[in-house]
Amino acid sequence: MSRTILPPSTIGMLGSGQLGRMFAIAARRLGYRVQVFSPDKDTPTGQVADLEIQASYNDLDAVADFAQQVDVVTYEFENVPIDTTKAVDRFAPIHPGGHVLHTTQQRIREKTFLQSAGIPITPFQPIRSLEELQAADKYNVPGVLKTAAWGYDGKGQVKIDSAEELESAWEQLECNEAVLERFVDFESELSIVAARGQDGSIAIYGPISNTHQNHILDLSVTPADLPKAVTDNACEIARTILSELELIGVLCVEFFLTKGGGLLVNELAPRPHNSGHLTVDAHVTCQFEQQVRAVCGLPLGSAAELRPAAMVNLLGDLWQKDAPDWAKVLSASDIKLHLYGKSEARVGRKMGHLTAVADTGVEAAEKALAARRLLA
Ligand code: AMP
Repeated sequence: MSRTILPPSTIGMLGSGQLGRMFAIAARRLGYRVQVFSPDKDTPTGQVADLEIQASYNDLDAVADFAQQVDVVTYEFENVPIDTTKAVDRFAPIHPGGHVLHTTQQRIREKTFLQSAGIPITPFQPIRSLEELQAADKYNVPGVLKTAAWGYDGKGQVKIDSAEELESAWEQLECNEAVLERFVDFESELSIVAARGQDGSIAIYGPISNTHQNHILDLSVTPADLPKAVTDNACEIARTILSELELIGVLCVEFFLTKGGGLLVNELAPRPHNSGHLTVDAHVTCQFEQQVRAVCGLPLGSAAELRPAAMVNLLGDLWQKDAPDWAKVLSASDIKLHLYGKSEARVGRKMGHLTAVADTGVEAAEKALAARRLLA
């Protein structure tokens, strides 16, 4: 049963990275209290939460204690164990619900759901054994072999250029279940971030254009320069997925735009997304505030764009000599710096981002990229 949870109630967050941090900042701005639960301490979220609880997600007694201290629970990553969500559910509502996690934390289930909802996806086949691999339809080669669970930022993926590479790729992934996806020679990548409230209302941010480097998101730009038919199609697909999943919270749908102008859904994330970070500086209501509003049963905010914007990620690579000289970007009036409070700057680790606003998306992208070059 849903009910409205008003400030100064306490929201529980499972997961303690940058998505939880930006959620907690949005929640506190609205007057909520935030408790964060994760196996780590002094985390990006813990640094800005009222209380940081350090315990394993599999410690169901600790999870139950946490759930009894809060009024509602949400999460910032989709690999929360299902038993953890069940332990929460005994004491506090959790949004998006466990059924959404069940679908989206395993690629075979996610793709099967999308297919049954009539959503276009990249051709794929499930691989659950060496026999299935050996019988793999060569139609999906060249392709990408992806672990069915626990993959992110290109981890757990191997590009397959010829059928002979399949067995070594399968061994390399060391998993029980995978999908072999056809390689898409796409025109570009885009995402839709959208929120659905407890009353079924939906707020959609216009498509965001994304560029990846080494499988990690590098640059996001809005508005994406797309024909209206593609924009409408992408929004409609996001709307269908939100409604079919009866999702309460925020969803990101990642797409490939094919050279023929068609859309294929690559994957779903039932939470705010890296490509939506620019909504903090460029939209009336950011994706994190939408998550707060949705899980607390409040009306959603406007997703209208205030200004064209671009976001570039700041990876740990930038720290390899010295910590970057932040003054160089802070002196620019249309650049916003976001740092996540992570102490260890590993190569490829997301440490922060820059957002630039401008009169056009192209201009914003140029400004954001130029600002980042000042830090190198
Ligand atoms: P994923 O973790 O599935 O989102 O993949 C990360 C990135 O790898 C995507 O954003 C694409 O840039 C690339 N990629 C993944 N799957 C494919 C595919 N089937 N064809 C082409 N590129 C892919």
